Amino acid sequence: MVYDLQKETWTQLIGKLDRLPHALLLHGAPGVGKLALAERFAQFLLCEKRGQGSVPCGSCEACRWFRAGSHPDARLVEPEATALALGRPASVAEEGEEDKKEKKKPSVQIKIEQTRGLADFLNLASHRGGRRIVIVHPAEDMNTATANSLLKGLEEPPGGAMFILVSHRPAGLLPTIRSRCVPVPVPLPDAKASVAWLTAQGVKNPQRWLAFAGGAPLRALDYATGERGEAIERVLRAIASGNRAALGEIKNREELEALAEVLQKMALDRAFGSLAGRTKYGGAAVPGDPRAWLAYARAMGRHRALTSHPLNPKLFAGEMLAGMPTT
Ligand SMILES: [Zn+2]
Repeated sequence: MVYDLQKETWTQLIGKLDRLPHALLLHGAPGVGKLALAERFAQFLLCEKRGQGSVPCGSCEACRWFRAGSHPDARLVEPEATALALGRPASVAEEGEEDKKEKKKPSVQIKIEQTRGLADFLNLASHRGGRRIVIVHPAEDMNTATANSLLKGLEEPPGGAMFILVSHRPAGLLPTIRSRCVPVPVPLPDAKASVAWLTAQGVKNPQRWLAFAGGAPLRALDYATGERGEAIERVLRAIASGNRAALGEIKNREELEALAEVLQKMALDRAFGSLAGRTKYGGAAVPGDPRAWLAYARAMGRHRALTSHPLNPKLFAGEMLAGMPTT
């Protein structure tokens, strides 16, 4: 399982058992397994047969409920779009709202209805006589009003209540929220272990995808198995063959996004390869003008943000390619 790649962080979490804080903040790059760790720790805390062990038993009623997503003392708060992407039923959808839902895109933000409901949940007596645990993921994906309503729960947590916040970008949290959580950094896992894990998931070319994902195994898995990965593959092949004309033949937004991402990462590799002699995304450390490549990487970052808007993909691709430094 992906949480096995984070054994040291797991040991750290277990080390907090004696004096468990009311709120933890698991933070690190996207795709390193933070959510899997948070869920595993919540399951561990709720497990009714863990005894002196350091892993959840996996077979008691509490463990089974937790894994089915139906433990009455656990809540997962996440944006509707995240829940859908992870193949889970969105908790925010309520009966009678079907019509509204069909017309609206799934929310990419946690809604205030989700955090408001938490106070009631936390103030009820625990169903199983243990803790009540709320996982918030990703904690930065909420507006200020929602964050403030979450803060109320964090300020006066009832006995036995615990929050586990998961964040890719802790700087995006309200300082008042950050200050109430004990931070737990979740690092990039060991590359060899990640490659072995990806291989076990059936990923072909695990080294390449892990490198392209900047060392984050879950991201690598996303690339290797998703449509984005296929588009990236085509772009990488065209770049490797030096076929710029093929790169300009972008047909849709998917390919355009892939092109912007590949060019951004390639530019970062060129810049840092020149400066430090090593690269982050698997590109070769080719000498070049680091300032020009950094500027180009920044431009591609802006382009990546723009590719989700309607535009002419072919023209846009041409523009991106034309701006590439020649040194
Ligand atoms: Zn158990």
